[in-house]
Amino acid sequence: MDSITLKAPAKVNLRLDVLARRPDGYHELRMIMQQLDLGDEVSITRVSEPGIFVTCDRDGVPDGPENIAWRAARALLDRSQRSDGLAIAISKNIPVAAGLGGGSSDGAAVLLGVNQLLGLGYSREELMQIGVTLGADVPFFVYAPVAVAEGIGEVLTPIAQMPELWMVLVNPNVPVSTAWVYKNLQLTARENGDKLPRSFADLAEVCAIMANDLENVTIPAFPVIREIKEQLQNRGALKAMMSGSGPTVFGIFADESTARAAAADMSTTSDWFVTVTRSIA
Ligand code: ATP
Repeated sequence: MDSITLKAPAKVNLRLDVLARRPDGYHELRMIMQQLDLGDEVSITRVSEPGIFVTCDRDGVPDGPENIAWRAARALLDRSQRSDGLAIAISKNIPVAAGLGGGSSDGAAVLLGVNQLLGLGYSREELMQIGVTLGADVPFFVYAPVAVAEGIGEVLTPIAQMPELWMVLVNPNVPVSTAWVYKNLQLTARENGDKLPRSFADLAEVCAIMANDLENVTIPAFPVIREIKEQLQNRGALKAMMSGSGPTVFGIFADESTARAAAADMSTTSDWFVTVTRSIA
């Protein structure tokens, strides 16, 4: 095998509680994260020249060592004391700096792909341990399509049951710095978060737990997010919420056709990025 192509899915946070600030600057979180059918495509090819060569088809995404995909490949080659040549081509479909975890997912895809391509034999747990050194959300993308994530995001537990979720994602094309959001946040005021269910029978149960503490920071700075939430709800979303540190908003719809109708309507009346996607299992 000389090359491998993987899909690197986007994620949304169905829940994001910020529990505490840690002395090291990270935050204790409690999240429910769900991967989506929307994803980047990551192709990894063995080349004869030693080194890691990353290319990406999206302006504004770094090509070289600043790309998390490059760092993921470097970490695996170093750990396994290999000096192979790897060309990594990223075809970007996930909006960048959008709260959809695109960079972290590309990094996880490289860990999984290089492990397979070079026959390194690392377990999922080992890849997750390497992943957390690259970014707090990377282990989740190695772990499972839906999970509870605690600690800084690396303590993962399964969600036993989740209904299929049809969603409309709307991104107003304003980049939001995750670091800025975390610097300006207030800790959660929610009680009983530790009683969050680990199994969801229907959409009503999912909508009932949806909440994101980071909305309190991002929405005042970018009021367009509130407008998008209202527009999604006016077009039939059962619930609409910002994902991660934003600015992408996702609306949960009862079925594919209502999601597509809402998306068609919103893309003709705005110049936002609007797409229909669904959860993966
Ligand atoms: P999160 O939801 O985890 O906060 P995000 O959607 O806010 O993620 P990303 O799209 O992952 O943010 O990227 C944030 C920054 O990381 C970008 O501005 C970019 O410079 C850098 N970056 C490095 N590697 C990548 C990559 N493979 N894809 C996208 N951005 C990358």
